[in-house]
Amino acid sequence: MFLRKGCLLVASCNSKVILQNAAFSTSYKASKSYQLVVVGGGAGGCTMAAKFSSKLGKGKVAVIEPADMHYYQPMWTLVGGGMKKLEDSGKPMSKVLPKKADWIKQCVVSFDPKNNKVMTDDGQEVSYEYLVIALGLQLNYNQIKGLPDAFSTPGVCSNYSPLYVKNTLKSLENFSEGNAVFTFPATPVKCAGAPQKVMYISDEYFRKHGKRDKANIIYNTSLPVIFGVKKYADALWEVVKERNIKVNLRQNLIEVKPDSKEAVFQNLDKPEELTIYQYEMLHVTPPMSTPDVLRNCGLLVDATGFLNVNKETLQHTCFPNIFGIGDCTNVPTSKTAAAIAGQCGVLRKNLSLAMAGKLPASLYDGYTSCPLVTGYSKCIMAEFDMNGNPLETFPINQAKERRLMFHLKKDMMPHMYWIGLLNGYWEGPKYLRKLMHLGLK
Ligand SMILES: Cc1cc2nc3c(=O)[nH]c(=O)nc-3n(C[C@H](O)[C@H](O)[C@H](O)COP(=O)(O)OP(=O)(O)OC[C@H]3O[C@@H](n4cnc5c(N)ncnc54)[C@H](O)[C@@H]3O)c2cc1C
Repeated sequence: MFLRKGCLLVASCNSKVILQNAAFSTSYKASKSYQLVVVGGGAGGCTMAAKFSSKLGKGKVAVIEPADMHYYQPMWTLVGGGMKKLEDSGKPMSKVLPKKADWIKQCVVSFDPKNNKVMTDDGQEVSYEYLVIALGLQLNYNQIKGLPDAFSTPGVCSNYSPLYVKNTLKSLENFSEGNAVFTFPATPVKCAGAPQKVMYISDEYFRKHGKRDKANIIYNTSLPVIFGVKKYADALWEVVKERNIKVNLRQNLIEVKPDSKEAVFQNLDKPEELTIYQYEMLHVTPPMSTPDVLRNCGLLVDATGFLNVNKETLQHTCFPNIFGIGDCTNVPTSKTAAAIAGQCGVLRKNLSLAMAGKLPASLYDGYTSCPLVTGYSKCIMAEFDMNGNPLETFPINQAKERRLMFHLKKDMMPHMYWIGLLNGYWEGPKYLRKLMHLGLK
């Protein structure tokens, strides 16, 4: 539950319920003050903290992040398919946050952008000259009736959470016959390709284990298209046709009934029309939103609850000392770690300009990428901008399924993430793309 008072509220973080209201509270600890505060130590927050703590020096930058572990979430697609272990996808947060930044291991419970401070769940006030918001997305499994409880029952899984990703391989192993149903919710999601990558991997798993003829694979998506970029959508339609996968558009999962192993979908074009699917396996991509602490702060967000930034400069539309990066912003591009790589160079330049009293000058083109894994050795490497135009790095047709792209995704990208991105070195393939296309792109 959230009681609002401006942007000060009652928030729930890490299963604890915290009461904070600066107007009434007398329990605040002594305030701390930094030149730059980064809220969230995930992909976007970690890279920005690394860049600026090395530039500004010790004691100038703080990262507020409650989690013990930092996960490389793109690996969970491979964990679900049994190609990697969950343990391979995480490192202790203490090992990945930059040494020169102060780690405040707390949850932000409210923002006070007019007074340049944030409040944490242990009652600290943290003041800043500049703020980077990198809070990612919140998974709202509880918006689907029957979840999350149904995850403890056979066949129900989700690659989107470290709590449920291991269920995916178990569901594949235990599958005997029936429907394998894969969902896409009616909200923005991180990595819009992941809800179907798991399906192609499942298809190949069933083939390898002699169960494919007993499996009826169904993709029920809330979207009116299979993928948002036509070039890759055309390629994916070919893949589903060839593999005998049934795609139903505008179908939104609203309830899971584990006792009868039924999943209830609503037709978004005819809301009164509900369809019930019997499932043997059900992979759920949950509805998502920005974390409550952000979406309840009306001063910072747009009508959809996303951080309101200029989509090119990444500067907040009302507060010039606040910038955003990653999934929690309203930049209209597909939400991925690759997009963060594209954004972090722009943000590095614009935040440095702001600190020097100048206007932002660097512009983000919306670069994002989605390695559409289509099996245990194949991948369509989608790369595009915020207008849905392909922005491919390699001078080959990337809409084709390729083994090379699969190895790039499985074996190279984790290193690019842990070493390149999180340490603030990797700013996306812009220059590589120019080189590969002889300066023509
Ligand atoms: C299954 C799956 C597959 C994916 N596949 C790909 C892929 O192939 N390629 C790709 O590029 N991307 C992929 N992604 C997407 C990618 O992982 C995300 O886009 C990226 O991690 C977003 O980074 P972020 O910094 O915006 O958010 P996150 O990395 O999620 O970080 C947000 C941080 O904010 C912290 N936080 C939350 N609330 C608070 C609070 N109140 N106070 C302080 N801190 C808080 C969280 O603990 C977290 O550490 C995938 C994601 C998933 C789940």
